[in-house]
Amino acid sequence: MDKLDFETWSRRAALWGVQYRDRLADRPVRARTSPGEIYRAIPPKPPETGEEMERIFEEFETLIEPGMTHWQHPRFFAYFPSNAAPVSVVAEYLVTAMAAQCMLWQTSPAATELETRMMEWLGAALGLPATFSGVIQDSASSATLAAVLMMRERTLDWQGNRAGLSQMPRLRIYCSDQVHSSIDRAIWIAGIGQDNLVKIPADPLSGALPPKQLEAAIRADIAAGYTPAGVIGCVGATGTGASDDIAKLVEVAHAHDLLIHVDAAWAGSAMICPEFRDLWAGVEGADSVVFNPHKWLGASFDCSAHFIRDPEMLVRTLAIQPEYLKTHGQDGIINYSEWSVPLGRRFRALKLWFLLRFHGLEGLRSMIRDHVRWAHNLHDRLAATSGVEIVTAPVLSLFSFRRDGASDADTIAHVSAINDDGRIYLTQTRVAGRLVIRFQAGSHAMREADIDIAYAAILDGLGLQAEER
Ligand SMILES: *Cc1c(COP(=O)(O)O)cnc(C)c1O
Repeated sequence: MDKLDFETWSRRAALWGVQYRDRLADRPVRARTSPGEIYRAIPPKPPETGEEMERIFEEFETLIEPGMTHWQHPRFFAYFPSNAAPVSVVAEYLVTAMAAQCMLWQTSPAATELETRMMEWLGAALGLPATFSGVIQDSASSATLAAVLMMRERTLDWQGNRAGLSQMPRLRIYCSDQVHSSIDRAIWIAGIGQDNLVKIPADPLSGALPPKQLEAAIRADIAAGYTPAGVIGCVGATGTGASDDIAKLVEVAHAHDLLIHVDAAWAGSAMICPEFRDLWAGVEGADSVVFNPHKWLGASFDCSAHFIRDPEMLVRTLAIQPEYLKTHGQDGIINYSEWSVPLGRRFRALKLWFLLRFHGLEGLRSMIRDHVRWAHNLHDRLAATSGVEIVTAPVLSLFSFRRDGASDADTIAHVSAINDDGRIYLTQTRVAGRLVIRFQAGSHAMREADIDIAYAAILDGLGLQAEER
């Protein structure tokens, strides 16, 4: 592609992005494609000779775009959000244009040093003490894996990587039964094994891991000859937003000389608002904390902020340092590839820099406060509607409900009816073994009026009239 074409198509792509965002509100949120439709429309073999850009771009618009689920839609209420604020998209254009591989300080000093600064900014924004160091990981799953590996190596006196686990003591890691599946997978990949992830049932009312049970489980394991290695706490769990009492878990973990990792992948963004910080009170005592700016905060996917109390432990766990990767010379140089599982790294700090500067913390706070307020508003209206049962109360902007007396099959049918309608998109989850409909508000494009649309779409999907109790 010559310079002129590069310019033409870059402009086209940027313009397309603007128009795409503009037309989202009038589209169904979820793709209306049947399985295999798009696959079959793509030829089985790549072309031998180059094709016209005009044709490629046109097929992107006619074939690909309609097959997308629109995560930037104002009424995306499913899963958790994956916001890409326009300003972060602009930063991503620049990152993509430079296309640097930022594994070492010397492979892009600006990327490394901006990353250090951005993690300091984020830590301060969340009210974390400046004693934490930070690194940007690709996902919370990777951050949790890194934390679990760190727990493993520290407990095995840094011998696990070398000797393997077959002759090692049987390690145990503790969490509640509300944690995200990424915790299970980190345990598998770290070679610790699902059977050694001790999932303690959360308190049915608070959703928190009972600290006394944790203490008892650790003691019982020690008595039985196991070797406890760490605790994983959650803040704003994926299902219904359950959170552990982090202060208590830190106390128990540290009393047994165990590291504690806190997964606040979604809820962490809301911690820029001081009034929500009770949710993770005590977090300053944790050894590792992860949250995803790519969820609620608006840094486009992917961008996961990982804070560590003692990065030496992480580097000791993950650094390989073959000769050719060593940065000679200056001391105090950070090679962030030693802080994460993948070697190669994208320049993720730039979009945070653009995002935080353009919106300012106050701008981001007011967005999150709006979402929380609007979700409470919808919750209150549903709670006041006959035929609707609220199952879990709002945690920040997340709550769950179902139609009174609905069986699991009914609830699935309700979710399908709501989503097929297209005005909104939400998902289901299980609470105490039964399906519920899950709602979260978090799209940057959302406006207060979208709550009215959500209310109407939900009642239609449940087959209810708007009747106050
Ligand atoms: C989204 C989420 C994760 C997984 O995040 P990835 O960045 O996709 O790995 C983990 N834990 C919780 C609580 C989450 O909400």
